[in-house]
Amino acid sequence: MAVIRDVMPAFQLYQPSSIADAQKILEQNGPDALALAGGLDSMDWLKDRIRKPKVVVDLGAIEELKGIRETANGVEIGAMTTLTEVAENVVIRQRYGVLSQAASLVASPQIRNQGTIGGNLSQDTRCWYYRAGWPCYRAGGNICYADTPVGRNREHAILYAERCVAVNPSDTAPACIALDAKFAVMTPKGQQVINAEDYFVGPDLDITRMNILQPGYLLTAIHIPSTWAKADFYFEKVRDRNVWDFPLMNVASAIHMSGETIQDIRIAVNAVAARPLRLKIVEDSVRGKPHNVATAETAGKLAVQGAVPLQFNAYKIPLMRNLVKRAITGVEEAAWAS
Ligand SMILES: Cc1cc2nc3c(=O)[nH]c(=O)nc-3n(C[C@H](O)[C@H](O)[C@H](O)COP(=O)(O)OP(=O)(O)OC[C@H]3O[C@@H](n4cnc5c(N)ncnc54)[C@H](O)[C@@H]3O)c2cc1C
Ligand code: SF4
Repeated sequence: MAVIRDVMPAFQLYQPSSIADAQKILEQNGPDALALAGGLDSMDWLKDRIRKPKVVVDLGAIEELKGIRETANGVEIGAMTTLTEVAENVVIRQRYGVLSQAASLVASPQIRNQGTIGGNLSQDTRCWYYRAGWPCYRAGGNICYADTPVGRNREHAILYAERCVAVNPSDTAPACIALDAKFAVMTPKGQQVINAEDYFVGPDLDITRMNILQPGYLLTAIHIPSTWAKADFYFEKVRDRNVWDFPLMNVASAIHMSGETIQDIRIAVNAVAARPLRLKIVEDSVRGKPHNVATAETAGKLAVQGAVPLQFNAYKIPLMRNLVKRAITGVEEAAWAS
């Protein structure tokens, strides 16, 4: 067994107790600083000696960042709220069940107890070449090791890949997009409120980041508007093992029905591209249509238009087609047909 003889490089640890102080420290230290939430993603990078921040800003003592509050037009979730709290909160379960379900399917109970909603939405990709420190495009190099004839790319992207074919692995991200959530981000220029789907970025915009967070930025809260409260929700996660495993793919939808007609819908998938995808083309195609298998089948076919498989992930195309179909019917096909 390998013996690691070095130690993790030292860093200065700050434990601010307010959003203002945390943002200031992050801003003053720019790219040398790392925000630490539950640490489940961050600690890997530190312990593997791949990221060596000079400053770590532990957000754990900031009470303003924790908890779930009802507001005049929905609910606000502090970025440091644990995934367990999100999964178990009564208001979220009763009114925004798709998010509760997504959070409850993340990893294991221990990880959900420690991992935060802000960290889950902001986590990095799991591409093992990149996580192992290989100098690929995303790490600033000039090659993608996953996108070669022998690259291990079973879990990688089928859509919107540009040089990098890594995927976003978050389970809560598509649920937030389906709920039309808004993310509050504190920046050096003040607070920004960003639509959930615009929080995430693909390699076409910036190959080194998965989201809009830049040095000095702090995600403070997730606002879920009441627009989609108690809609007809669907969430499904497909993974290799039904235990603590990242999604091979997931889907989240929210539907408002008018009789047997789909009056309005939001639908998003994740783990098919470097950012979670809101499927506007699908939404537009089914809005005003009868809620039946034919509508869902058309939607599934539309969803995978333009998908390009890699050597080992062709299965993702029928998987996405079927997940989208089921997210519209709302039930598994056999049950629906019977
Ligand atoms: C074994 C294992 C299995 C997992 N399985 C799944 C799974 O099935 N599904 C899934 O969705 N996730 C999974 N995860 C991810 C996990 O759920 C965590 O949510 C995620 O790693 C990060 O959450 P965290 O609170 O630990 O954040 P951290 O690791 O502390 O932070 C993650 C990143 O976000 C940044 N960040 C965090 N909070 C903020 C903030 N408020 N403002 C600015 N930046 C911030 C950090 O700087 C860092 O870059 C798994 C993790 C592990 C270790
Ligand atoms: S998929 Fe992206 S992260 Fe993975 S090796 Fe290729 S460039 Fe790097």
